Amino acid sequence: MKRPVIEDFEALRFGYEESLLRRITERAGPIPLRDFSDAQRLLNGRRQDLLGDAVRITADLLPQVYTAYSFCLDLFRGAYSGDLFVRQSPTYNASVFAHEGKFDLLIHSGLLNDFTIDELRFVIGHELGHVAFEHSRFPIHEILSHLREIPPEIASLLLSWSRAAEVSADRIGLLCCGGLTPAVTALFKTASGLRGIHVDRILDSFRGQYEELERGIRKGGDAYRWMRTHPMIPIRFKALEMAALDIVALCRGAPGFSWKGFRAIDAQIAFILESLDR
Ligand SMILES: [Zn+2]
Repeated sequence: MKRPVIEDFEALRFGYEESLLRRITERAGPIPLRDFSDAQRLLNGRRQDLLGDAVRITADLLPQVYTAYSFCLDLFRGAYSGDLFVRQSPTYNASVFAHEGKFDLLIHSGLLNDFTIDELRFVIGHELGHVAFEHSRFPIHEILSHLREIPPEIASLLLSWSRAAEVSADRIGLLCCGGLTPAVTALFKTASGLRGIHVDRILDSFRGQYEELERGIRKGGDAYRWMRTHPMIPIRFKALEMAALDIVALCRGAPGFSWKGFRAIDAQIAFILESLDR
């Protein structure tokens, strides 16, 4: 696969995430930002934990996985450096913490056992998206565990932001895996735990779920109370589906890509999330 050349990753950030970031900083100032020395301490502590009880993936240990990881990391042309670790767990999960261009990425063994290399590229790309968009700046887990100390308005903005941040990260995932299919099958496996289902069935199922959600939003009222939980899987699917053609064109340097069209997609997905945030 040809490596995409992207000059400006920031331009791929989901527009709604950007506007939430602005609102959070306007209202809360620098309060929710993680303190510099605190972040450094967390990065070091996490690395020590990983070196102690996880396994670092090297080219010798897992050549294919390591190649996929290097491919994704090289998209950023040396802007970030870090290691990939694996830990035993059947749960399909991965996580990253980054500070000042340094990060460590942890992937659960369930993903390595059950995901294809292209699906892994989506997962790794998604995590590196969190690095590139500096999502570790907001200590969302700590903030949410001390919710009572935070004004409710800021807490709800932070929750909305953390959901929107997933859409931004997915776009880097898409860039790394190079197409809609592995992105969608990875999302499906993560959500359902099921393997071996044909992509056409997966697309039909996600589309159906998204359409029901959209109908509910347009109709409003109590019948659609389930939407209050922010059903992120259908929304992330729709955002991926809509952005895929553009991002693939961008990857290939093809003339089909236009930022104007990309912003229109942004606005449509923002409308759905904003309607749920109201
Ligand atoms: Zn994420």
